Amino acid sequence: MKSYEHLYIDGQWVKPALGGTFPTLDPSNEAVLAQVAAGTAADIDLAVKAARKAFDEGPWPQTSGAQRAVVLRRIASGIRERLDTLATLEVHDNGKPFPEAQWDIGDTAGCFDFYAELAEQLDTRQEQNVQLADERFTCVTRKEPMGVAGAIIPWNFPMLMAAWKVAPALAAGCCMVLKPSELTPLTALELAHIAHEACLPAGVLNVVTGLGPDAGAPLSEHPGIDKLAFTGSVPTGAKIMQAAARDIKNISLELGGKSPFIIFDDSDLEAAVEWIMFGIFWNQGEVCSATSRVLVQRGLYEPLLKRLVEEAGKLSIGPGMQDGVLLGPLVNSTQYQKILQAVARGQEEGATLLYGGTRPLGCEAGYFLTPAIFADVPVDSWIWNEEIFGPVVCVRPFDDEAEALRSANDSRFGLAAAVMSRDLERAERVARRLRAGIVWVNCSQPTFTEAPWGGYKQSGIGRELGEWGLNNYLETKQITRYDSDQPWGWYIK
Ligand code: ADP
Repeated sequence: MKSYEHLYIDGQWVKPALGGTFPTLDPSNEAVLAQVAAGTAADIDLAVKAARKAFDEGPWPQTSGAQRAVVLRRIASGIRERLDTLATLEVHDNGKPFPEAQWDIGDTAGCFDFYAELAEQLDTRQEQNVQLADERFTCVTRKEPMGVAGAIIPWNFPMLMAAWKVAPALAAGCCMVLKPSELTPLTALELAHIAHEACLPAGVLNVVTGLGPDAGAPLSEHPGIDKLAFTGSVPTGAKIMQAAARDIKNISLELGGKSPFIIFDDSDLEAAVEWIMFGIFWNQGEVCSATSRVLVQRGLYEPLLKRLVEEAGKLSIGPGMQDGVLLGPLVNSTQYQKILQAVARGQEEGATLLYGGTRPLGCEAGYFLTPAIFADVPVDSWIWNEEIFGPVVCVRPFDDEAEALRSANDSRFGLAAAVMSRDLERAERVARRLRAGIVWVNCSQPTFTEAPWGGYKQSGIGRELGEWGLNNYLETKQITRYDSDQPWGWYIK
């Protein structure tokens, strides 16, 4: 077994200061996959200082975008060369089906390529003239790297979520300390190897593995950090925001969701069933944008529920490396217990469990669960309103467009939403009224590196991906020059 007992700090592989490790498990069999370096505050401090030095004294922030693009493209190639190895590692660490992991890793490489291109474009777009009303002055704005960024990422798309932060930060000229989730830390360490081979200068990217309170909290509190980027749960996001408030760190947060999917009764039944299933069951439902609240117009309600149950029963469940599997195990025992409790709670709250929510036959070890379908879910129930983060879909009927919109928008979250109808005018109208950062029409979930990603309300602050992702790591400076040879006139007349 490969060793993951070192941290990557200042271009070196070092043992954590306290010398500890923690185990990461394979959720399909509950066996220890690897012992991983347990970083603590002392390691975070070293990593931040290394990043600080690389930013303040090193070449990286001063290089041209084109030079940074060369390194980013090397990282993308390094990822592609090991695509299946990395995907296999992701399957064992996270549980997801292999084809989905292959897609994640391919997209991870694509993300580095995309930001390489944006880094190049920055060379020509870095400075822009601003026309001032007072013609005695000349003004230009300039985009500059924000400084040292801290990234704290979740376990559901481990390497891809790292790329969403590392790639734009490096493209912008920032230096970074990355803290992956303790549940899935392995591909972030692999990313450090790849970045090292790509000749990224020492200190530009540092990877510190460790537990949330031991390594994540000191990173979010560290005064040497200028920017914090976080993806994860709302309660942890709130803690990070509080920590960032102490010294006014710039933050971007991508948090939870309880995203609605409105299905009008003119929709194609089979297409609706597939998008609903994909929208909540892909990646075991461990997806922040999962469309977990489905609103179906009365005329289609009963036939759709019947077909959903039939199709859910056919989903192949098993270890992610097994051929044809569409649902792997949940990530760990805590998540598994949480989902089982949510299923029990839904039944107590009066929702009708039409299918699933139990351990599948023949899967004695591992955190496997049959996909759960709840119908007639009460609007004031916990399962209708709170994020479950597992393969559990809640369905309710509605009568008209106004009711569907009211119900869809009645949430403290606003990450994503979806609407399906053959009447495109109606679908587009509804899309514009939905209070969410991402709205899908006649589909759910497809995600593109070029388009902005982030939520309204308690689903977060800021946008990742596309040019918005790059702007997360850029400051805007104005440089204003007085061109007149006349005195300013405050006291010289
Ligand atoms: P979950 O509860 O689903 O694991 P979290 O939002 O707690 O989701 O975890 C996402 C990331 O936040 C992980 O990398 C985790 O280690 C980190 N984390 C957890 N607690 C804290 C904390 N108090 N401060 C900073 N990071 C934390």
